[in-house]
Amino acid sequence: MSAQRILFIASEAAPLIKVGGLADVVGALPSALMELGDEVRILIPKYGAIDTRLLTDLKQVGNLAVPWQGQLVSVSLELSRLPGTAVPLYLLDAPGMFVGNAIYYEHGGPGGMRLAQERYLFFSWAASHAWSQLGWSPTVLHCHDWHTAAIPALLSLVPPAAPPTVLTIHNLEGQGKWSAAEVFSWLGLAGNETASLKYRDGSGDLNLLQLGIRNAAAVNTVSPNYAQEILTPEYGAGLSADCAARPGGVTGILNGIDVRSFDPSSDIRISARYSSDTAAVGKLANKRALLSELGLPLADGPLFGLIGRLTSQKGVDLLPASVPAIVQAGGQLVVLGSGVPEIEQLTIAAIKPYARHCRVIVKFDARLARCIYAASDFFLMPSRFEPCGLGQMVAMRYGTLPIVRDTGGLHDTVRDLRKYRAGTGLVFGPATATALTATVRDALRIYRQPDTMNSARQRAMSGDFSWRRSARAYQRLYDHVAHPH
Ligand code: ADP
Repeated sequence: MSAQRILFIASEAAPLIKVGGLADVVGALPSALMELGDEVRILIPKYGAIDTRLLTDLKQVGNLAVPWQGQLVSVSLELSRLPGTAVPLYLLDAPGMFVGNAIYYEHGGPGGMRLAQERYLFFSWAASHAWSQLGWSPTVLHCHDWHTAAIPALLSLVPPAAPPTVLTIHNLEGQGKWSAAEVFSWLGLAGNETASLKYRDGSGDLNLLQLGIRNAAAVNTVSPNYAQEILTPEYGAGLSADCAARPGGVTGILNGIDVRSFDPSSDIRISARYSSDTAAVGKLANKRALLSELGLPLADGPLFGLIGRLTSQKGVDLLPASVPAIVQAGGQLVVLGSGVPEIEQLTIAAIKPYARHCRVIVKFDARLARCIYAASDFFLMPSRFEPCGLGQMVAMRYGTLPIVRDTGGLHDTVRDLRKYRAGTGLVFGPATATALTATVRDALRIYRQPDTMNSARQRAMSGDFSWRRSARAYQRLYDHVAHPH
């Protein structure tokens, strides 16, 4: 495999600018690739929300003019490093395009959607002009989600000939749909300049994610199983036919987690540190500390944890029916998360009669999340769909056995210990409260079998969830597009 020079083009990069998991991938994968010998740089918009004090040695490296809405817009390129890493970071700026604290304007109604559409179409168009002016020549352009998905189509309109593109879909639901006539008027195009712009989605709109799926040299999503699921109408969000039409298919590469940060043997934010040899004792110490912090007694059954967005995607509305079963068998439940108000209320109401052994904490709290991962015996993640999912991997790293629905990345990362000797959790099929409750009842039984618990815990903790493993798979994908056979 030959070393590549990869330019990541994205809307978020942790720790500088983060809304969701996309930022974590763009923040972590480049370093893992560099450790394997590739050269990687990142290009993001220079948002007003970025704290420029974090950017060392920020310097101007380029200036270009980009046609947009009937004018020539002056675009500047600055170079620094992604904080805390050795990864060079380009920031692309243009007057008025990235000001303000909102990134996606997602709460701004139709006006917000229009602003987001303009912002990311402009960014994609400007990046299609800028990649050749960096003073560094990438061999692969790696785009992420709808915000930069138009780039593979737009590149054919801008000389010189561009390197091959990879598009990673982190979330198929965000697509960037807009009226084709308006989009082409912003770009100053008729729309018939190249065949790459001919696609329209089911509603007749120009759909930026669809353009990417149709035109990128390779498309992947963040788990192998989700890559299969999105070929079906049920999971395809209207784009299943576009995914299925790709000659090379859509591949799946699991995300990693930061195994240095999420490490129970060195995590200073949990009450007691432990390794797989000392997990039984260490986890009990963390359980005592967490229950005491939350004002709960130590019961003799297992502690179930749930951390995540309280939404229907996460299947949190399936949980209430399991609460009586948990408490009646001596178990306890702690839920940490926020999300849709109705689902928050449903969850709070469900534990009310069982408040002596259950807590729902509606907030985002990274420290408390670590304490719950460390203290729990089982981690609930009954998602309806899950492109990859990080919670189940963090849970296993902390020796907490995930209870997951058999979907997306959950299918790829958790093996059912009721079926496989190498099992690391419990996996159920139907997205129903009955199926979840039956699985929870099995977990309550398994908890009373210390040997089964201990060996499953050991296996869960020895899994490789590192970015290095993901980076190797991305290297194969880059190599494939750079040297098509
Ligand atoms: P998502 O679909 O939200 O990206 P993931 O499982 O991929 O779901 O990642 C969510 C991550 O955010 C997990 O590591 C989870 O622990 C963390 N998280 C979610 N909600 C909270 C919260 N309320 N407080 C602390 N951490 C949270």
